[in-house]
Amino acid sequence: MNDSPHPPRAHQHFETLAIHAGQPADEQTGAVVTPIYQVSTYKQDGVGGLRGGYEYSRSANPTRTALEQNLAALEGGSRGLAFASGLAAEDCLLRTLLTPGDHVVIPDDAYGGTFRLFSKVAERWGVKWSVADTSDVQAVRDALRPETKAVWVETPSNPLLGITDIAALAGVARQAGVRLVVDNTFASPYLQQPLALGADVVVHSTTKYMGGHSDVVGGALVTSDAALGEELAYHQNAMGAVAGPFDAWLVLRGIKTLAVRMDRHSANAGRIAEMLAGHAEVTRVHYPGLASHPGHEIAAKQMRGFGGMVSFQVAGGEEAAVAVCDRARLFTLGESLGGVESLIEHPGRMTHASAAGSALEVPADLVRISVGIEAVDDLVEDLRQALG
Ligand SMILES: *Cc1c(COP(=O)(O)O)cnc(C)c1O
Repeated sequence: MNDSPHPPRAHQHFETLAIHAGQPADEQTGAVVTPIYQVSTYKQDGVGGLRGGYEYSRSANPTRTALEQNLAALEGGSRGLAFASGLAAEDCLLRTLLTPGDHVVIPDDAYGGTFRLFSKVAERWGVKWSVADTSDVQAVRDALRPETKAVWVETPSNPLLGITDIAALAGVARQAGVRLVVDNTFASPYLQQPLALGADVVVHSTTKYMGGHSDVVGGALVTSDAALGEELAYHQNAMGAVAGPFDAWLVLRGIKTLAVRMDRHSANAGRIAEMLAGHAEVTRVHYPGLASHPGHEIAAKQMRGFGGMVSFQVAGGEEAAVAVCDRARLFTLGESLGGVESLIEHPGRMTHASAAGSALEVPADLVRISVGIEAVDDLVEDLRQALG
């Protein structure tokens, strides 16, 4: 099932791979788009005579295979795996990499669900974790223990848009003999390629920019380590939280326009970050594209654009931040991110409520926006009126 008649070529550019990798025209009908193989099992030509390796759709399904090959090509890896959600992908990864007693360093501003997975689920199975400011290379070095097996990084991070130097941490991880995991959800492979910078595994919530239309929940893992890829695929099948064919198809469809969407998300977010930075009601803007952001230079080095996520703090504290969210009209009040439509939320009470009282608690006066691809003037006008 991996012998595509038109294998993507190494020299092809991202935009081309996004549309074609893993998706040759259908052999039988010429269908230009990979069909939704809504099927659980496959006729065998004699016992064990599988056609193209397909046996049962938990193990492999042609629509999911197309997505998995596409994801591998986009991240520059050798193996891509598609899951039912980003957290299902994370769960598969941590149960593949870790056994009881092992330790993981996680970022001090990790995605709330990632933090919950480690602190409330993995910990009960004997996995140890501690938090570090991953934008500080020395802090990560100091957090390593003899039993550390992985360093987990999100860059840009959620919701504070912190930037971690992937290449520098890859060096630290290699020296210590631990794996470097990068959650590339906020950047997408169009803006940032962690494997090329030395990471071992890339994690995605494809729910966000990859799907891009707020109509599917999915996750992915990509690695360029063939042996690790085999182990992950074994666990994916053994644990079973795979992406269904329709979900895989929606993500494939979204990815075709990823490059043009990310360019527009980045341009719109840059304009909005500048407007917010000059607004009297805003005390601080977190956007790696601003020269004032502490991670700006590293972001400029390792990303080809700064993405569509912006967060900002408002004068007047928590109540004022909640009021801004309530007053926004074009920005829809809601969780999640990465869709074509703009969203606004209060992390302290919404996405990051589960981190309250922990090392990952977020500022109460923080507002997070996912800047969509609408006309930027309309977005600016809506935020101005919401800020009052
Ligand atoms: C949403 C998200 C996840 C979790 O993905 P789901 O698809 O919601 O399970 C993980 N990491 C980041 C950075 C996210 O934004």
